[in-house]
Amino acid sequence: GPKDYQFMLRLKQPAGELPPDLYRLLDDLSREKGQGDLRATTRQCFQMHGILKGSLKEVIASIMNIGSSTVGACGDVSRNVMTTPAPFAHPAYEHAREWSKVFAQLFRPMTPAFSQIWLDGEKAATVESWHTEVSGYNIDEVMKHDTGRGVVLNDSVEPLYGDRYLPRKFKIGVTVPGDNSLDIYTNDIGAVVITDSAGNLEGFNIMVGGGMGRTHNKENTFARAADHLGFVSKEDAMELMKCIVATQRDHGNRDVRANARMKYLVHTLGIQDFRKLVESYFGKPIEPWRPMVEWKYSDWMGWWEQGDGKLFCGVHIENGRVKDEGKFRLKTALRRIVDKYNIPMILSPTQSIILRDINPNDKKGIEYLLDAHGIKPIEHVDPLNRLAMACPALPLCGLAQTEAERLMPAYLDRVRGLLNKMNLSDEEIMIRMTGCPNGCARPYMAELAFVGDGAKSYQVWLGGSPVLTRTAWPFMAKMDVDDLEKTLEPILAMFIQQRQQFEAFGDFCYRVGAEAIEAYSNNYRLG
Ligand code: SF4
Repeated sequence: GPKDYQFMLRLKQPAGELPPDLYRLLDDLSREKGQGDLRATTRQCFQMHGILKGSLKEVIASIMNIGSSTVGACGDVSRNVMTTPAPFAHPAYEHAREWSKVFAQLFRPMTPAFSQIWLDGEKAATVESWHTEVSGYNIDEVMKHDTGRGVVLNDSVEPLYGDRYLPRKFKIGVTVPGDNSLDIYTNDIGAVVITDSAGNLEGFNIMVGGGMGRTHNKENTFARAADHLGFVSKEDAMELMKCIVATQRDHGNRDVRANARMKYLVHTLGIQDFRKLVESYFGKPIEPWRPMVEWKYSDWMGWWEQGDGKLFCGVHIENGRVKDEGKFRLKTALRRIVDKYNIPMILSPTQSIILRDINPNDKKGIEYLLDAHGIKPIEHVDPLNRLAMACPALPLCGLAQTEAERLMPAYLDRVRGLLNKMNLSDEEIMIRMTGCPNGCARPYMAELAFVGDGAKSYQVWLGGSPVLTRTAWPFMAKMDVDDLEKTLEPILAMFIQQRQQFEAFGDFCYRVGAEAIEAYSNNYRLG
Protein backbone atom coordinates (compact mmCIF):
# COMPACT_ATOMS: atom_id res chain seq x y z
CA GLY A 1 0.00 0.00 0.00
CA PRO A 2 0.98 3.67 -0.05
CA LYS A 3 2.27 3.32 3.52
CA ASP A 4 5.28 1.42 2.22
CA TYR A 5 6.51 4.53 0.53
CA GLN A 6 6.04 7.00 3.33
CA PHE A 7 8.78 8.32 5.54
CA MET A 8 8.82 10.11 8.85
CA LEU A 9 11.39 12.78 9.48
CA ARG A 10 12.39 13.80 12.98
CA LEU A 11 14.14 17.12 13.19
CA LYS A 12 16.08 17.83 16.33
CA GLN A 13 17.06 21.30 17.29
CA PRO A 14 19.45 22.27 20.07
CA ALA A 15 17.51 23.14 23.20
CA GLY A 16 14.34 22.88 21.10
CA GLU A 17 15.16 26.18 19.39
CA LEU A 18 13.67 26.79 15.97
CA PRO A 19 14.71 29.91 14.03
CA PRO A 20 11.97 31.53 11.91
CA ASP A 21 13.55 30.46 8.59
CA LEU A 22 13.60 26.85 9.61
CA TYR A 23 10.02 26.96 10.80
CA ARG A 24 8.90 28.48 7.49
CA LEU A 25 10.71 25.74 5.64
CA LEU A 26 9.17 22.98 7.76
CA ASP A 27 5.75 24.51 7.29
CA ASP A 28 6.25 24.58 3.50
CA LEU A 29 7.64 21.06 3.37
CA SER A 30 4.87 19.57 5.49
CA ARG A 31 2.31 21.05 3.12
CA GLU A 32 4.10 20.28 -0.11
CA LYS A 33 5.84 17.01 0.69
CA GLY A 34 4.29 15.64 3.87
CA GLN A 35 0.80 14.89 5.09
CA GLY A 36 0.09 18.54 5.87
CA ASP A 37 0.73 18.76 9.59
CA LEU A 38 3.69 18.85 11.96
CA ARG A 39 3.93 17.08 15.28
CA ALA A 40 5.72 18.49 18.30
CA THR A 41 7.11 15.59 20.33
CA THR A 42 7.74 15.00 24.02
CA ARG A 43 11.48 15.51 23.49
CA GLN A 44 11.47 18.98 22.00
CA CYS A 45 11.58 18.16 18.32
CA PHE A 46 9.27 18.26 15.32
CA GLN A 47 8.24 15.19 13.36
CA MET A 48 6.90 15.27 9.86
CA HIS A 49 4.92 12.28 8.70
CA GLY A 50 3.93 10.96 5.31
CA ILE A 51 6.87 12.09 3.23
CA LEU A 52 6.87 10.19 -0.05
CA LYS A 53 10.01 8.38 -0.99
CA GLY A 54 10.53 10.44 -4.13
CA SER A 55 10.61 13.68 -2.13
CA LEU A 56 12.92 12.53 0.59
CA LYS A 57 16.21 13.75 -0.86
CA GLU A 58 14.79 17.14 -1.58
CA VAL A 59 13.32 17.45 1.90
CA ILE A 60 16.59 16.53 3.58
CA ALA A 61 18.64 18.74 1.33
CA SER A 62 16.52 21.78 1.95
CA ILE A 63 16.61 21.27 5.71
CA MET A 64 20.35 20.78 5.69
CA ASN A 65 20.81 23.88 3.55
CA ILE A 66 18.89 26.10 5.84
CA GLY A 67 20.34 24.36 8.85
CA SER A 68 23.91 25.07 7.88
CA SER A 69 23.26 28.66 7.01
CA THR A 70 21.15 29.75 9.95
CA VAL A 71 21.63 27.17 12.64
CA GLY A 72 25.34 26.83 12.13
CA ALA A 73 26.20 29.58 14.53
CA CYS A 74 25.25 27.48 17.50
CA GLY A 75 26.48 24.27 15.96
CA ASP A 76 24.23 21.84 14.23
CA VAL A 77 24.18 20.04 17.48
CA SER A 78 20.92 18.42 17.94
CA ARG A 79 20.97 15.64 20.37
CA ASN A 80 18.53 14.10 22.63
CA VAL A 81 19.37 16.60 25.34
CA MET A 82 16.38 18.34 26.81
CA THR A 83 16.29 21.60 28.65
CA THR A 84 13.74 23.91 30.16
CA PRO A 85 12.04 25.72 27.28
CA ALA A 86 11.58 28.99 29.19
CA PRO A 87 13.66 31.58 27.31
CA PHE A 88 14.38 33.75 30.34
CA ALA A 89 17.32 36.09 30.05
CA HIS A 90 18.35 35.18 33.60
CA PRO A 91 21.87 33.82 34.12
CA ALA A 92 20.79 30.37 35.38
CA TYR A 93 18.57 29.85 32.34
CA GLU A 94 21.30 31.02 30.01
CA HIS A 95 23.71 28.54 31.58
CA ALA A 96 21.15 25.76 31.21
CA ARG A 97 20.67 26.49 27.50
CA GLU A 98 24.39 26.76 26.82
CA TRP A 99 25.31 23.59 28.70
CA SER A 100 22.52 21.58 27.17
CA LYS A 101 24.33 22.20 23.90
CA VAL A 102 27.71 21.39 25.40
CA PHE A 103 26.43 18.07 26.76
CA ALA A 104 24.68 17.35 23.47
CA GLN A 105 27.99 17.67 21.74
CA LEU A 106 29.83 15.64 24.37
CA PHE A 107 27.36 12.79 24.08
CA ARG A 108 26.92 12.92 20.35
CA PRO A 109 27.73 9.28 19.59
CA MET A 110 25.11 8.03 22.01
CA THR A 111 22.15 10.05 21.06
CA PRO A 112 20.15 10.02 17.86
CA ALA A 113 21.52 11.95 14.95
CA PHE A 114 20.53 15.40 13.78
CA SER A 115 17.82 14.25 11.51
CA GLN A 116 16.50 10.77 11.28
CA ILE A 117 14.49 9.26 8.56
CA TRP A 118 12.10 6.51 9.51
CA LEU A 119 10.47 4.07 7.18
CA ASP A 120 7.54 2.13 8.59
CA GLY A 121 8.80 2.58 12.12
CA GLU A 122 12.38 1.53 11.30
CA LYS A 123 15.18 4.00 11.09
CA ALA A 124 16.22 4.16 7.46
CA ALA A 125 18.98 6.74 7.49
CA THR A 126 20.49 9.53 9.51
CA VAL A 127 21.85 12.83 8.41
CA GLU A 128 24.77 14.25 10.30
CA SER A 129 26.32 17.63 10.52
CA TRP A 130 28.72 18.58 13.25
CA HIS A 131 30.55 21.51 14.61
CA THR A 132 32.97 20.54 17.34
CA GLU A 133 33.13 23.97 18.87
CA VAL A 134 30.29 24.92 21.19
CA SER A 135 30.58 28.19 23.05
CA GLY A 136 34.34 27.88 23.22
CA TYR A 137 34.48 24.27 24.40
CA ASN A 138 36.37 22.11 21.98
CA ILE A 139 34.61 18.86 22.61
CA ASP A 140 36.98 16.74 20.56
CA GLU A 141 39.83 17.85 22.79
CA VAL A 142 37.81 16.98 25.87
CA MET A 143 37.04 13.56 24.51
CA LYS A 144 40.69 12.79 23.81
CA HIS A 145 41.91 14.02 27.15
CA ASP A 146 43.10 11.16 29.33
CA THR A 147 41.88 11.19 32.89
CA GLY A 148 44.82 9.10 34.01
CA ARG A 149 42.35 6.59 35.38
CA GLY A 150 41.93 4.70 32.17
CA VAL A 151 38.72 6.42 31.29
CA VAL A 152 38.40 5.58 27.68
CA LEU A 153 39.45 8.13 25.40
CA ASN A 154 40.75 7.21 22.11
CA ASP A 155 39.89 9.39 19.21
CA SER A 156 37.97 6.88 17.19
CA VAL A 157 34.57 7.72 15.79
CA GLU A 158 32.90 6.95 19.06
CA PRO A 159 35.53 7.93 21.56
CA LEU A 160 33.71 7.03 24.71
CA TYR A 161 32.51 3.63 23.74
CA GLY A 162 34.96 2.30 21.23
CA ASP A 163 33.40 -0.74 19.69
CA ARG A 164 32.70 -2.28 23.06
CA TYR A 165 29.37 -0.83 23.77
CA LEU A 166 26.68 0.84 21.80
CA PRO A 167 24.11 2.06 24.27
CA ARG A 168 20.55 1.93 23.11
CA LYS A 169 19.68 5.36 24.29
CA PHE A 170 21.18 7.90 26.55
CA LYS A 171 18.89 10.69 27.59
CA ILE A 172 20.09 13.84 29.24
CA GLY A 173 18.23 16.77 30.74
CA VAL A 174 19.51 20.16 31.90
CA THR A 175 17.54 22.67 33.93
CA VAL A 176 17.65 25.26 36.71
CA PRO A 177 16.69 24.70 40.35
CA GLY A 178 12.92 24.59 40.80
CA ASP A 179 12.03 24.24 37.09
CA ASN A 180 10.90 20.70 36.37
CA SER A 181 9.12 21.52 33.13
CA LEU A 182 11.13 18.77 31.40
CA ASP A 183 10.62 15.70 33.62
CA ILE A 184 14.26 15.77 34.59
CA TYR A 185 14.00 12.60 36.71
CA THR A 186 13.26 10.52 33.60
CA ASN A 187 16.74 10.99 32.15
CA ASP A 188 19.81 8.77 32.32
CA ILE A 189 21.65 11.88 33.48
CA GLY A 190 20.05 15.07 34.75
CA ALA A 191 22.08 18.22 35.41
CA VAL A 192 20.81 21.20 37.40
CA VAL A 193 22.83 24.40 37.09
CA ILE A 194 24.03 25.85 40.38
CA THR A 195 25.02 29.50 40.39
CA ASP A 196 26.40 31.87 42.99
CA SER A 197 24.34 34.84 44.10
CA ALA A 198 25.68 36.93 41.21
CA GLY A 199 24.52 34.33 38.70
CA ASN A 200 27.96 32.92 37.93
CA LEU A 201 27.94 29.22 37.19
CA GLU A 202 29.49 27.17 39.99
CA GLY A 203 28.62 23.71 38.72
CA PHE A 204 25.83 21.18 38.58
CA ASN A 205 23.77 18.94 40.78
CA ILE A 206 23.86 15.65 38.91
CA MET A 207 21.23 12.91 39.03
CA VAL A 208 21.50 9.50 37.38
CA GLY A 209 19.51 6.43 36.48
CA GLY A 210 16.11 7.62 35.31
CA GLY A 211 14.22 6.03 32.44
CA MET A 212 10.70 5.23 31.32
CA GLY A 213 10.86 2.24 28.97
CA ARG A 214 9.59 -1.10 30.20
CA THR A 215 7.92 -4.21 28.84
CA HIS A 216 4.66 -5.73 30.05
CA ASN A 217 5.11 -8.97 32.04
CA LYS A 218 8.86 -8.58 32.24
CA GLU A 219 9.56 -7.75 35.82
CA ASN A 220 13.21 -7.08 35.21
CA THR A 221 12.18 -4.04 33.16
CA PHE A 222 10.74 -1.05 34.97
CA ALA A 223 10.33 2.70 34.93
CA ARG A 224 12.65 4.51 37.29
CA ALA A 225 13.15 8.04 38.62
CA ALA A 226 16.77 9.21 38.78
CA ASP A 227 18.75 9.31 42.05
CA HIS A 228 20.85 12.24 43.24
CA LEU A 229 24.52 11.53 42.57
CA GLY A 230 25.96 14.80 43.90
CA PHE A 231 27.46 18.12 42.91
CA VAL A 232 30.24 18.72 40.41
CA SER A 233 32.07 21.96 39.70
CA LYS A 234 31.81 23.32 36.17
CA GLU A 235 35.52 22.60 35.65
CA ASP A 236 34.97 18.90 36.37
CA ALA A 237 31.54 18.57 34.80
CA MET A 238 32.54 17.02 31.50
CA GLU A 239 35.00 14.73 33.22
CA LEU A 240 32.30 13.46 35.55
CA MET A 241 29.97 12.93 32.61
CA LYS A 242 32.60 10.79 30.93
CA CYS A 243 33.18 8.82 34.11
CA ILE A 244 29.47 8.08 34.42
CA VAL A 245 29.39 6.79 30.86
CA ALA A 246 32.56 4.76 31.39
CA THR A 247 30.98 3.22 34.49
CA GLN A 248 27.98 2.19 32.46
CA ARG A 249 30.18 0.98 29.61
CA ASP A 250 32.24 -1.26 31.88
CA HIS A 251 29.55 -2.43 34.29
CA GLY A 252 26.21 -2.04 32.55
CA ASN A 253 24.37 -5.03 31.18
CA ARG A 254 25.42 -5.20 27.56
CA ASP A 255 24.25 -8.72 26.94
CA VAL A 256 20.58 -8.29 27.61
CA ARG A 257 19.22 -5.58 25.39
CA ALA A 258 16.19 -5.00 27.59
CA ASN A 259 18.50 -4.18 30.49
CA ALA A 260 21.04 -2.05 28.69
CA ARG A 261 19.85 1.27 30.10
CA MET A 262 21.89 2.77 32.90
CA LYS A 263 18.90 2.82 35.25
CA TYR A 264 19.29 -0.94 35.74
CA LEU A 265 22.90 -0.57 36.82
CA VAL A 266 22.03 2.23 39.25
CA HIS A 267 19.17 0.10 40.54
CA THR A 268 21.26 -3.05 40.96
CA LEU A 269 24.13 -1.34 42.72
CA GLY A 270 22.14 1.26 44.62
CA ILE A 271 23.14 4.90 44.38
CA GLN A 272 25.85 4.64 47.08
CA ASP A 273 27.78 1.89 45.32
CA PHE A 274 27.15 3.40 41.92
CA ARG A 275 28.65 6.65 43.23
CA LYS A 276 31.71 4.77 44.58
CA LEU A 277 32.18 3.13 41.23
CA VAL A 278 32.00 6.45 39.39
CA GLU A 279 34.45 7.93 41.91
CA SER A 280 36.92 5.15 41.07
CA TYR A 281 37.06 6.59 37.56
CA PHE A 282 36.77 10.20 38.67
CA GLY A 283 39.71 9.85 41.05
CA LYS A 284 38.15 11.80 43.91
CA PRO A 285 34.98 11.91 45.97
CA ILE A 286 31.89 13.42 44.38
CA GLU A 287 30.70 16.40 46.42
CA PRO A 288 27.32 16.23 48.15
CA TRP A 289 24.19 17.38 46.29
CA ARG A 290 23.67 21.10 46.91
CA PRO A 291 20.42 22.14 48.56
CA MET A 292 17.97 23.69 46.10
CA VAL A 293 14.54 25.28 46.07
CA GLU A 294 11.65 22.84 45.71
CA TRP A 295 10.70 21.57 42.27
CA LYS A 296 7.70 22.98 40.51
CA TYR A 297 6.09 21.89 37.31
CA SER A 298 5.36 24.64 34.82
CA ASP A 299 4.51 24.28 31.15
CA TRP A 300 5.42 27.97 30.55
CA MET A 301 2.23 28.53 28.63
CA GLY A 302 0.70 31.99 28.26
CA TRP A 303 2.49 35.32 28.44
CA TRP A 304 5.72 35.95 30.38
CA GLU A 305 8.36 38.65 30.59
CA GLN A 306 11.66 37.29 29.35
CA GLY A 307 13.76 39.59 31.52
CA ASP A 308 15.36 41.49 28.64
CA GLY A 309 12.44 43.76 27.78
CA LYS A 310 10.91 41.16 25.46
CA LEU A 311 8.04 38.77 26.09
CA PHE A 312 7.47 35.12 25.43
CA CYS A 313 4.19 33.32 24.86
CA GLY A 314 3.57 29.59 25.29
CA VAL A 315 0.93 28.19 22.94
CA HIS A 316 -0.66 24.96 24.12
CA ILE A 317 -0.90 22.34 21.37
CA GLU A 318 -3.17 19.41 22.00
CA ASN A 319 -1.09 16.27 21.50
CA GLY A 320 1.55 18.33 19.73
CA ARG A 321 -0.45 18.40 16.53
CA VAL A 322 0.23 21.55 14.50
CA LYS A 323 -2.58 21.44 11.98
CA ASP A 324 -5.55 23.25 10.47
CA GLU A 325 -8.88 21.61 11.08
CA GLY A 326 -12.18 23.42 10.66
CA LYS A 327 -12.15 26.67 12.63
CA PHE A 328 -9.03 25.62 14.50
CA ARG A 329 -6.19 26.84 12.26
CA LEU A 330 -3.08 26.68 14.40
CA LYS A 331 -0.79 25.91 11.50
CA THR A 332 -1.86 28.97 9.55
CA ALA A 333 -1.72 31.12 12.68
CA LEU A 334 1.85 30.13 13.51
CA ARG A 335 2.97 30.74 9.95
CA ARG A 336 1.35 34.19 9.89
CA ILE A 337 2.96 35.07 13.22
CA VAL A 338 6.39 33.90 12.13
CA ASP A 339 6.06 35.70 8.79
CA LYS A 340 4.87 38.94 10.32
CA TYR A 341 7.12 39.16 13.37
CA ASN A 342 10.04 36.95 12.32
CA ILE A 343 10.43 35.50 15.81
CA PRO A 344 11.98 32.16 16.77
CA MET A 345 10.09 29.48 18.63
CA ILE A 346 11.05 26.82 21.13
CA LEU A 347 9.58 23.36 21.30
CA SER A 348 8.53 22.49 24.81
CA PRO A 349 9.00 19.10 26.51
CA THR A 350 5.23 18.75 26.66
CA GLN A 351 4.47 18.89 22.94
CA SER A 352 3.75 22.60 22.85
CA ILE A 353 5.59 25.63 21.54
CA ILE A 354 6.83 28.90 22.92
CA LEU A 355 7.09 32.04 20.79
CA ARG A 356 10.04 34.03 22.07
CA ASP A 357 11.69 37.43 21.69
CA ILE A 358 8.36 39.20 21.29
CA ASN A 359 8.40 42.96 21.26
CA PRO A 360 5.78 44.07 23.85
CA ASN A 361 4.19 46.25 21.16
CA ASP A 362 3.45 43.12 19.15
CA LYS A 363 1.58 41.33 21.94
CA LYS A 364 -1.84 42.57 20.83
CA GLY A 365 -1.18 41.61 17.20
CA ILE A 366 -0.12 38.08 18.17
CA GLU A 367 -3.10 37.68 20.47
CA TYR A 368 -5.32 38.81 17.64
CA LEU A 369 -3.84 36.33 15.16
CA LEU A 370 -4.17 33.44 17.62
CA ASP A 371 -7.76 34.36 18.39
CA ALA A 372 -8.69 34.87 14.75
CA HIS A 373 -7.52 31.33 13.98
CA GLY A 374 -9.49 29.69 16.76
CA ILE A 375 -6.71 29.23 19.32
CA LYS A 376 -7.99 29.68 22.85
CA PRO A 377 -5.98 31.73 25.33
CA ILE A 378 -4.41 29.40 27.88
CA GLU A 379 -6.78 30.52 30.66
CA HIS A 380 -9.61 29.00 28.66
CA VAL A 381 -7.97 25.61 28.15
CA ASP A 382 -9.26 22.94 30.56
CA PRO A 383 -6.45 22.27 33.07
CA LEU A 384 -6.89 18.54 32.45
CA ASN A 385 -6.05 19.06 28.78
CA ARG A 386 -3.29 21.46 29.59
CA LEU A 387 -1.57 18.95 31.88
CA ALA A 388 -2.20 15.89 29.70
CA MET A 389 0.10 14.13 27.29
CA ALA A 390 -0.45 11.23 24.91
CA CYS A 391 1.91 9.54 22.48
CA PRO A 392 1.11 9.13 18.74
CA ALA A 393 0.40 5.35 19.02
CA LEU A 394 -2.05 4.14 16.34
CA PRO A 395 -1.84 4.50 13.42
CA LEU A 396 1.62 6.06 13.37
CA CYS A 397 3.67 3.91 15.69
CA GLY A 398 4.59 0.33 14.89
CA LEU A 399 4.82 -0.64 18.56
CA ALA A 400 1.39 0.61 19.57
CA GLN A 401 -0.93 -1.97 21.10
CA THR A 402 -3.86 0.41 21.24
CA GLU A 403 -4.96 4.03 20.85
CA ALA A 404 -3.46 6.96 22.72
CA GLU A 405 -3.46 10.37 21.00
CA ARG A 406 -6.72 9.77 19.16
CA LEU A 407 -8.52 8.52 22.26
CA MET A 408 -7.14 11.02 24.75
CA PRO A 409 -9.50 13.96 24.05
CA ALA A 410 -12.54 11.75 24.65
CA TYR A 411 -10.92 10.26 27.73
CA LEU A 412 -10.20 13.67 29.19
CA ASP A 413 -13.82 14.63 28.58
CA ARG A 414 -14.93 11.56 30.47
CA VAL A 415 -12.60 12.31 33.39
CA ARG A 416 -13.89 15.89 33.35
CA GLY A 417 -17.46 14.59 33.49
CA LEU A 418 -16.66 12.36 36.44
CA LEU A 419 -14.82 15.10 38.35
CA ASN A 420 -17.73 17.48 37.86
CA LYS A 421 -20.24 14.86 38.90
CA MET A 422 -18.28 14.21 42.10
CA ASN A 423 -17.86 17.90 42.98
CA LEU A 424 -14.16 17.74 42.20
CA SER A 425 -14.27 20.17 39.32
CA ASP A 426 -11.41 22.26 40.70
CA GLU A 427 -8.99 19.33 40.88
CA GLU A 428 -6.09 19.46 38.44
CA ILE A 429 -4.85 15.96 37.77
CA MET A 430 -1.95 15.22 35.46
CA ILE A 431 -3.02 12.41 33.13
CA ARG A 432 -0.86 10.72 30.52
CA MET A 433 -1.53 7.95 28.04
CA THR A 434 0.60 5.75 25.79
CA GLY A 435 -0.21 3.01 23.34
CA CYS A 436 2.45 0.66 24.71
CA PRO A 437 4.74 0.32 27.75
CA ASN A 438 7.67 1.97 26.00
CA GLY A 439 6.52 5.15 27.67
CA CYS A 440 7.24 7.92 25.14
CA ALA A 441 4.80 10.32 26.82
CA ARG A 442 6.43 9.55 30.21
CA PRO A 443 3.25 8.03 31.68
CA TYR A 444 4.93 6.54 34.73
CA MET A 445 5.58 9.98 36.23
CA ALA A 446 1.98 11.19 35.95
CA GLU A 447 -0.57 11.24 38.75
CA LEU A 448 -2.81 9.01 36.64
CA ALA A 449 -1.72 7.11 33.55
CA PHE A 450 -3.12 4.70 31.01
CA VAL A 451 -0.59 2.42 29.34
CA GLY A 452 -1.85 0.32 26.45
CA ASP A 453 -1.64 -3.39 27.21
CA GLY A 454 -3.87 -4.84 24.54
CA ALA A 455 -6.42 -3.92 21.92
CA LYS A 456 -8.78 -1.54 23.74
CA SER A 457 -7.24 -2.12 27.17
CA TYR A 458 -4.92 -0.23 29.49
CA GLN A 459 -2.80 -0.67 32.54
CA VAL A 460 -3.79 2.01 35.06
CA TRP A 461 -0.96 3.70 36.96
CA LEU A 462 -1.39 5.79 40.11
CA GLY A 463 0.74 7.79 42.49
CA GLY A 464 3.13 9.91 40.44
CA SER A 465 3.84 13.37 41.77
CA PRO A 466 2.36 16.62 40.42
CA VAL A 467 5.93 17.94 40.28
CA LEU A 468 7.23 14.82 38.50
CA THR A 469 9.79 13.57 41.00
CA ARG A 470 8.82 9.90 41.49
CA THR A 471 7.32 7.05 39.55
CA ALA A 472 3.78 5.78 39.88
CA TRP A 473 2.83 2.11 40.32
CA PRO A 474 0.55 -0.12 38.25
CA PHE A 475 -2.83 -0.19 39.96
CA MET A 476 -4.54 -2.57 37.57
CA ALA A 477 -3.93 -4.34 34.28
CA LYS A 478 -6.20 -4.79 31.30
CA MET A 479 -8.75 -2.14 32.12
CA ASP A 480 -11.27 -2.21 29.31
CA VAL A 481 -11.41 1.12 27.56
CA ASP A 482 -15.10 1.39 28.53
CA ASP A 483 -14.43 0.89 32.24
CA LEU A 484 -12.81 4.25 32.93
CA GLU A 485 -15.58 5.60 35.19
CA LYS A 486 -16.04 2.27 36.96
CA THR A 487 -12.34 2.22 37.80
CA LEU A 488 -11.85 5.85 38.76
CA GLU A 489 -15.00 6.61 40.70
CA PRO A 490 -14.10 4.57 43.81
CA ILE A 491 -10.59 6.04 43.90
CA LEU A 492 -11.96 9.57 43.66
CA ALA A 493 -14.54 8.78 46.35
CA MET A 494 -11.74 7.65 48.65
CA PHE A 495 -9.79 10.79 47.76
CA ILE A 496 -12.75 12.96 48.77
CA GLN A 497 -13.12 11.11 52.05
CA GLN A 498 -9.48 10.73 53.12
CA ARG A 499 -7.42 13.44 51.47
CA GLN A 500 -5.45 15.92 53.55
CA GLN A 501 -5.92 19.62 53.05
CA PHE A 502 -4.57 20.74 49.65
CA GLU A 503 -3.29 17.23 48.95
CA ALA A 504 -2.93 16.54 45.25
CA PHE A 505 -4.47 13.40 43.79
CA GLY A 506 -1.09 11.83 42.99
CA ASP A 507 0.28 12.62 46.44
CA PHE A 508 -2.83 11.15 48.03
CA CYS A 509 -2.53 7.89 46.09
CA TYR A 510 1.15 7.71 46.97
CA ARG A 511 0.47 8.26 50.69
CA VAL A 512 -2.34 5.77 51.14
CA GLY A 513 -0.78 3.18 48.83
CA ALA A 514 -1.93 0.45 46.48
CA GLU A 515 -3.46 -1.95 49.00
CA ALA A 516 -5.66 0.63 50.66
CA ILE A 517 -6.95 1.86 47.31
CA GLU A 518 -7.67 -1.68 46.17
CA ALA A 519 -9.50 -2.52 49.38
CA TYR A 520 -11.53 0.69 49.24
CA SER A 521 -12.39 0.11 45.58
CA ASN A 522 -13.57 -3.44 46.25
CA ASN A 523 -15.79 -2.33 49.13
CA TYR A 524 -17.14 0.58 47.13
CA ARG A 525 -18.24 -1.73 44.33
CA LEU A 526 -19.89 -4.10 46.78
CA GLY A 527 -21.84 -1.05 47.82
FE1 SF4 B 1 4.73 4.08 20.13
FE2 SF4 B 1 4.69 2.99 22.53
FE3 SF4 B 1 6.06 5.26 22.13
FE4 SF4 B 1 3.43 5.29 22.10
S1 SF4 B 1 4.73 4.78 23.86
S2 SF4 B 1 4.77 6.25 20.59
S3 SF4 B 1 2.92 3.32 21.22
S4 SF4 B 1 6.52 3.26 21.24
